[in-house]
Parts: sequence; C-alpha cells; structure tokens
Amino acid sequence: MRRVYQDERMMPIQGGLIVSCQADPADAFYGLMDRFARAALAGGAKGIRANGPDDIRAIRNAVELPIIGIQKSIHDDGNILITPSFESAQALAYAGATAIALDCTRRGQESGAFERLRRIKTELKLPVMADIATIEEATAAFEAGADFVLSTMRGYTADTYQVSHFDPRFIEQLVHALGVPVIAEGRVDTPDLARQAMEAGAFAVVVGSTITRPHLVTRLFADAVKTSQEFVLGIDLGGTNTKYGLVTTSGEMIWHDTATTPAQSGRAGLLHHLERIAQAGVARAAEAKQPVASIGIATAGWVDPGTGRVVYATENLPGWTGTRIAETISATTSLPVFVENDANAMAIGEKRFGVARHFDNFVCITLGTGVGGGCYVGGRLNHGGHFFANAFGHMVIQPGGRACSCGQSGCLEAYTNAAALLDYANGSYANTQLLIKAAEEGEPVATGALAEYSSHLAAGCGLLVQLLDPEALIFAGGLAQNNPMLLTLLENELAGRVPVWRERKLKLLMSGLGYHAGVFGAAALS
Ligand SMILES: [Zn+2]
Repeated sequence: MRRVYQDERMMPIQGGLIVSCQADPADAFYGLMDRFARAALAGGAKGIRANGPDDIRAIRNAVELPIIGIQKSIHDDGNILITPSFESAQALAYAGATAIALDCTRRGQESGAFERLRRIKTELKLPVMADIATIEEATAAFEAGADFVLSTMRGYTADTYQVSHFDPRFIEQLVHALGVPVIAEGRVDTPDLARQAMEAGAFAVVVGSTITRPHLVTRLFADAVKTSQEFVLGIDLGGTNTKYGLVTTSGEMIWHDTATTPAQSGRAGLLHHLERIAQAGVARAAEAKQPVASIGIATAGWVDPGTGRVVYATENLPGWTGTRIAETISATTSLPVFVENDANAMAIGEKRFGVARHFDNFVCITLGTGVGGGCYVGGRLNHGGHFFANAFGHMVIQPGGRACSCGQSGCLEAYTNAAALLDYANGSYANTQLLIKAAEEGEPVATGALAEYSSHLAAGCGLLVQLLDPEALIFAGGLAQNNPMLLTLLENELAGRVPVWRERKLKLLMSGLGYHAGVFGAAALS
C-alpha cells in the first residue's frame, strides 16, 4: 500500500541532491561542516545530511536547507550504530534537524530501532528516515512507519558485505516493494550514478565522500597516478606447469617465467613452490626499482575467493583441498594475496585486460587437456552458491557416451579435449598443433576431425547460449590458439542449432591474452 508523502518539511528535497557533510575528528575539515553546507547550497543541493548536534547546529545557522540528522555512536557490540537511542535523536532535533535517520538494518532492529522510530514520530514529530541494506529490512521499516527508506547500509552489513558498488536496480526493487519514497545513498560516487538512481525511481539522492572528503578524492587521483608504476605478480598454478609474471596495472607484462608444478608433493610442497615463485617475483620487481603491490594466484580446483581457500581440488593436486593459500602466502610475503579458480581468473583477465572489456554477459571457455570456463552474468563473475559453478566441461551432451574423468558418461570435455580431437583424426597426428596446422593447409583428415570436433563443441555451446544469452563466447587454451578455422566451423554449427540465432548477434572471439592468459587473469584478481 502506498502512503502519500505530504510532510512539507521534506518536500524541497524531492528530485534533488542531498549532500552528506560529515568529517571524522582526524579530517582536516573537521568542525567546518557549515562551510561545506554553504558550498553544497551554492552548487544546487536541496538538502544536507549531517552527524551530531554540533555540526547540525552550525549548518542550521549557515543554510536554510532541510537537514537529515544522524548520530553515529559506538553501540554495545563495539561497532558504530546510526542514532542508537531516543535521547540521541532528541538532541539532533533540538539542534535543528528536519528529519532523523536511524539504522533499521537487522542489527538496528535488534537494538530497538522501531521503538525509537515510533517515539521520534510521536514525541518529536519529525519524519523518520530508515537506513537499510535489504528489501526485507526496508519492508519491515515501512511497516513500522518509516517516512523514507534509504539504501545507505547496502554493502555495509554482514548480509550484504559482498556488494561493493551502487546498483540502481536495487533502488528500482525498493521503489516497487515500498509505499514510501526511496532515497538512494551509499557509493553514489559519480554524477552518472546519481542520474541512474533518479531514473530508477529515487525520490532524491545522497552523495557524501566524493563531495565532502577531499582526502578520499585526492587518494583516487594519487592512486591512479601511482599504480602505473606498481606491479602485480600473477601466478597461474596448473597441474603440469606454473606460469608467472609481473604485470603493470595497465596490462603490460614486463617479465615472465615458467616452472614445473610439483603436483605430487602435497600441500606443503605446493605452498613452498608458490613461496619461492613469490620471492623470485618480488626480487625481480626490486631490480626494476618498482615494488610488487599484490599477488594474484590462479589455481586448478574450486576456490572461495573471499578467503583465498581451496574448497575442493581433484587428485591432480593431492592434498590441495582445504588449503588456505591467501593466508599462507600473505604471511610469508607481507603482501595482499588474491586467489581464484584458474578458469574464473581467465574470465576476469579477459574482462580487465582482454577482449571482454566491453561485455557484461560473456562466457570464457578453455579448450585443452581439460575443458572449463568462467562466465560473467550482468557484469559479475558467476561463482554459484558454493563456488562450484562453471563446470561446462561436465555438461552431458551425449547421454551414455564417452567416459569422462569425472565419472559421468558423455561430458562435453570427453568430446572436446585434446585427446578427443586427436581421436577424430584416428591418431594420424602426434599432437593437436600439428593437426590444427594440417587443417589450415586443407588436409582432409585434419579438416574432417576439426569439423567433428566443432559439432560437439557446438552442442555444449548451444546449451550455454540458450541458458545465458551471452554477448560473446571467448575461447582460450591450446586448441583455440592459432585456430581461426574453429570459430568459423563453430559459428556455422551454432547458426544451425540455436533458435533466433541472428537476433542474438552473439560474437565468437579468440582470447586476447594468448599463452599467458592465466597469468594475466591472476594479475587481474587484485
Ligand atoms: Zn565429466
């Protein structure tokens, strides 16, 4: 049910920008928030959000804009809570706040936010703004009588910590779910995002740090200037070889090397191997007089990128399951370490440095000894619920068909790995590179083998296209490199299989990162 909002005190903010004028005691501008409010007014702001009675009093004397008052205080659990008591809200009201915002997340609700909300409305007679992080919290706050809902806490609570960017679609969902005005706040750090928030149906938009924390804005520029002189060490730990290299943030590889992976040496042996490579990379960077800023590690096996732990690895790397790679390598190198599954890392590498830079929906498929991949859906890498997603190689394309290493029969991998391609030529070629070259030169056995290979690959890709409707399929790995004929054959196969093929405008592309795709992918993790 929609509640018509008619409180004239807050109407001036409709369709406008609210500037959050806050400073920590350590900030150079602490105590000068009234100046920031005057600057905000001069720039066209329609409201101010401010912390604590002192700032609010000063701002109230400086400008006549509506002020959303908050009180950031340390709560019983040791963390900051926004407006944690009725008394704190009262002090904001006396100082001149036009409305009071309070934390109505699950944690806030557990601290009695809704009781405070009711008292603020009845006793102080001020509009209440609910700072929330999820739709559920927003709905509860609306039902408890909040006059506005603000997306302020999204990305800052235990339930939403994985959200790192402002997403206008969340605003759209709030607008649809609620009967009160929605105000966009939290990481709205460009004019374009602010505009998108309004297009999504926001009543107003709050922008803070980007406007009122000059040191943060300075740091953005300082980092942008500085990082081009730092290296990331990318390590691609494969079952046979480990490739590694130093990559600049603009995607230039200035040094690389390869070592044999001691795959059978167990957890301790593999960690020692990674430590030695990390030391070699750090030493090489020191020679170039530019430090290593961080280390990215792409590994076979399923990985929880949040903790840098191997969730599960096959017997290709015995003992690797459960290894806390990031923690261990970070402890010995004193550098930030990021870990990801190798196929996912490759997709991240393509998005950051390669041919996928302008795509939000694409699938990276590696064709080699094994077949795997990574996919982006709506601009994000898909991890699945338990980090087991993207096992494309084990989609069954031929029930009861060829036996696969995973125990199933008829997997895509069993039909499209290197061994299968050699099989289609009846063992006429010693390796896939020779076969691919022969096909280029028109040798019938080789072209026939490649055609058979393409039809099986098309069966798997057709499923992906139907499920995900990607903008592009990007191929990497030994069987895709230097093999343009494969894309032509595959495109013809797909065109004959996939419904509404022409309308999809799907692009089939070769990886832009080549032999070192894994190293670039690892480097792109940080
Ligand atoms: Zn399988």
